[in-house]
Amino acid sequence: MSDQVISKSSKVISDYAGSLDGSVCLPDQVLFPSTFHELHGIVAEAKEKLLELHVVCTGRNWGYGSAQGTGEGQTIVDLSRMNKILEVNEDLAYARIQPGVTQGMLAEYLAKHNSRLQLDVTGAPAHTSIVGNFLERGFGHTDYGNRYESILSLKVLLANGKNIATGFGCFKENRNVFDQGIGPDLKGLFSQSNFGIVHEMTIALQPKPAHFCMLILSVKNKDDLGVLVDLVRELRLKQYVNSTIHIANPGRVTNRDTKQLGAWVLSGAISSSKAIVRARKKTIRRICKRRLSRYKLVFVDDAKFRLIKFIHRRIRPLAIFENLKSAIDLQKGNPTDQPLKVMTDLEEVEHIRFADDFATKFRWINACCNAEKTSIEKMMQLLSEIYEKYQYPLQLTLTSINARTLILIANVRYVDDPDAIKKANTFYVECAQALHENQFYAYRTGIRCGVPYDDDYKEVLGNLKECFDPQRVFSPNKNSIN
Ligand SMILES: Cc1cc2nc3c(=O)[nH]c(=O)nc-3n(C[C@H](O)[C@H](O)[C@H](O)COP(=O)(O)OP(=O)(O)OC[C@H]3O[C@@H](n4cnc5c(N)ncnc54)[C@H](O)[C@@H]3O)c2cc1C
Repeated sequence: MSDQVISKSSKVISDYAGSLDGSVCLPDQVLFPSTFHELHGIVAEAKEKLLELHVVCTGRNWGYGSAQGTGEGQTIVDLSRMNKILEVNEDLAYARIQPGVTQGMLAEYLAKHNSRLQLDVTGAPAHTSIVGNFLERGFGHTDYGNRYESILSLKVLLANGKNIATGFGCFKENRNVFDQGIGPDLKGLFSQSNFGIVHEMTIALQPKPAHFCMLILSVKNKDDLGVLVDLVRELRLKQYVNSTIHIANPGRVTNRDTKQLGAWVLSGAISSSKAIVRARKKTIRRICKRRLSRYKLVFVDDAKFRLIKFIHRRIRPLAIFENLKSAIDLQKGNPTDQPLKVMTDLEEVEHIRFADDFATKFRWINACCNAEKTSIEKMMQLLSEIYEKYQYPLQLTLTSINARTLILIANVRYVDDPDAIKKANTFYVECAQALHENQFYAYRTGIRCGVPYDDDYKEVLGNLKECFDPQRVFSPNKNSIN
């Protein structure tokens, strides 16, 4: 295939074949284009030779299929060499990037150029992509944590070789960043789909707040989760907190002593001007007092964190220090390895790139839940029963992706042996089914998992696929679109 790097080496093939659920899906080859021209050539050749292409940005889709394609024998197109930061606009607060740009690269660029802007980062390490995660509608930890909402425009290569842009990219000449453009807004069609290859994305960046402040709230009683969720909804609806808010059980926060964390610990960002932070603190204290009885509410700003750091380094080590530091990093847009360290129980995770680099297997279980007491209690009951039946420790976070919806991310970790993998698969299917039947639907699926759409909806998706990619070149069956 033209002049881009092609790999058929067995090591590379196996890197892209494995998934953390223990499954293997062998590709035929892996291509690494470094220009749009090369990418264009790959698509043309794939059509001619009837190849199936599956595109990844960095292929670190851990827990959702890693770098696997949607089927055996595919050509994986790894876009990590198309990694240019094309523009950062300080006034309009956006960045224009290629798909291979990682969170680490953009965060480093912003720091190096003394930018007034910050990136929203996920809990995945620095070398994971921005574009792949935004397209899968992942989420982060700041006011821009609902990442899909920060997509201003996409440039997309279609299977017929045409190159289109969303928003006002509908016109030949465009300098306007209004994401909705005019006419149908096509942006959503290229997210969680298989209709085209996104080769450029413009994303909104957040102006760095003048005063950093993190909110941490913990409750002693396990049964207070429903009240906590009602409280989160109030904070988000009334915009006292604009960041995503994460509620976690201690097992998901740290693998150290967890006594001080209570039954549930919540974190969010209330960073803004000093006056607004002061007003938000006062209001949040009042709301907590009204809604909760046994709880601990702490605000950590830069001055307080410096003090905590001093105590940790000079007086006595604090068990929670690394996790606190990592939560602050995430809220400031600095990628961190800490969540991966907690998840893997490893001190060093630098080497982890592909599924085979992990010492254990794991899977995410995710589901959306209305941000209300009755819904969350029902979901938790379902989940707890199944976790107990299979004797897995319940480790989960609930993230207020917006004011009305929480996203559950629970996981199971298990050793790499056939019995453990089989057990985890049975558990996963039971869990996913029970959640779905009770209308707690997944917000994102594993790359080779199906979505049981209603028939009419599925037909529309099929018609769209026929229109964009009649030869089924791109990731056939991704999200059950065919
Ligand atoms: C410890 C830990 C913490 C994590 N924390 C988070 C978190 O906070 N938030 C979160 O969302 N996820 C999180 N993850 C999950 C996952 O690791 C990230 O979502 C990661 O960013 C996905 O990998 P990637 O960026 O390399 O995407 P890729 O693997 O490159 O892409 C993902 C999928 O998107 C599609 N795609 C990619 N590129 C294109 C393109 N150019 N055009 C069209 N379609 C494309 C493909 O279907 C591809 O399979 C975490 C995982 C771990 C292990």
